[in-house]
Amino acid sequence: MLSYQEARDWLQQRARPLTLRQTVALPQAAGRVLAEPVEAGIDVPPHPNSAMDGYAVRCAELSGPLPVSQRIPAGADPQALQPGSVARIFTGAPIPAGADAVVMQEQATVDEAGLVSFSVAPRPGQNIRPRGEDIARGQCVIAAGRRLSPADLGLAASIGLAALPVLPALRVAVFFTGDELVEPGQPLAPGQIYNSNRYWLQPALQRLGCEVIDLGRVGDALEPTRQLLRDAAAVADVIVTCGGVSVGEEDHVRAAVEAEGELTLWQVAIKPGKPLAFGRVGEADFIGLPGNPVSGFVTLQTLVRPFLLLRMGLKPDEAAPARHRADFEWTRPDPRRSEFLRVRKVAGDGGWMLQLYPQQSSGALTSCAWADGLAWLAPGQAVSPGDELAYLPLDGQ
Ligand code: AMP
Ligand code: MG
Repeated sequence: MLSYQEARDWLQQRARPLTLRQTVALPQAAGRVLAEPVEAGIDVPPHPNSAMDGYAVRCAELSGPLPVSQRIPAGADPQALQPGSVARIFTGAPIPAGADAVVMQEQATVDEAGLVSFSVAPRPGQNIRPRGEDIARGQCVIAAGRRLSPADLGLAASIGLAALPVLPALRVAVFFTGDELVEPGQPLAPGQIYNSNRYWLQPALQRLGCEVIDLGRVGDALEPTRQLLRDAAAVADVIVTCGGVSVGEEDHVRAAVEAEGELTLWQVAIKPGKPLAFGRVGEADFIGLPGNPVSGFVTLQTLVRPFLLLRMGLKPDEAAPARHRADFEWTRPDPRRSEFLRVRKVAGDGGWMLQLYPQQSSGALTSCAWADGLAWLAPGQAVSPGDELAYLPLDGQ
């Protein structure tokens, strides 16, 4: 049996980051991984501009009321400020040459002759946003290998880029095995259960940034499973299946992968979890998750997620997990396996506390829906109230 850390390292060593590059328009680039660093070709803002609606002035000239020599709305290309005058100016408009401050309109009075005087003496530079205040030309504004956030896309637009070089989305084909599975919306016949895994796995993969190709369900039979593996390998970078990887005679995924490619099947010392299959079919990686919903969920979060992130060209977070105090007791630890308890982080007297979902059975999907994280226990680790535990957030999963 592999330890949790061994299985994780083993998988990560085999995660080949995508090498293809493509250029996509900004609206399509959200959530994609940037392939090359982005450098600014211009200063932002490209010209000094007014932070206020008011008057552009030369501070040294403000001994008495002055006439307004020009009007500068945003988007205008102003003339130099005439000596002995002020310019009416609006937020975002370029500062005219010769002006060194903007006085906000609330501090200005215009007399009947149209001359402007100010209630407060301005300081040079006041209310002027200098050229390059945000970004200097030549500066690297987005590092390669970063998943593009909404703010990153705004940043790219602010330096005039309409498209960005990104890695392609990782294509993940999924399918679900089991004669007992029925899709929600259908009536349940005796012996059947609903295919719940399909409905958390697909969005969980999408949220990671994968392009999911859902191939549906296959019964417990070798030939159809082999066929679906071939179909999956033809369209995907990674194949993820659910169920059928144990060693029972109704578990055909193992034999199907061995016939179509290569397979390594382990017992990983995690609870819930345990069986995890990894291999290759054609050019695609193969990952076989256990069918038990909570086992599959925890295995995806703890082992498969970092593999997929690396595969997508991202770096999984290697920082040590946060530690929070337990608000519960756990007296029957598994002596050989790391346990991932479904917990919730709540504000306590002296900081965050972890609450335990009372039903920790590996079939209880309610625990995953309730939890906002996993408390990670070492093999044999019992918990007393107040103990500090490693906490892995589920990030809205
Ligand atoms: P297996 O790994 O195929 O032996 O399945 C283990 C347990 O998980 C069995 O109780 C299955 O009925 C259940 N199971 C397998 N696949 C699913 C699924 N897609 N949705 C819900 N339960 C499942
Ligand atoms: Mg099964």
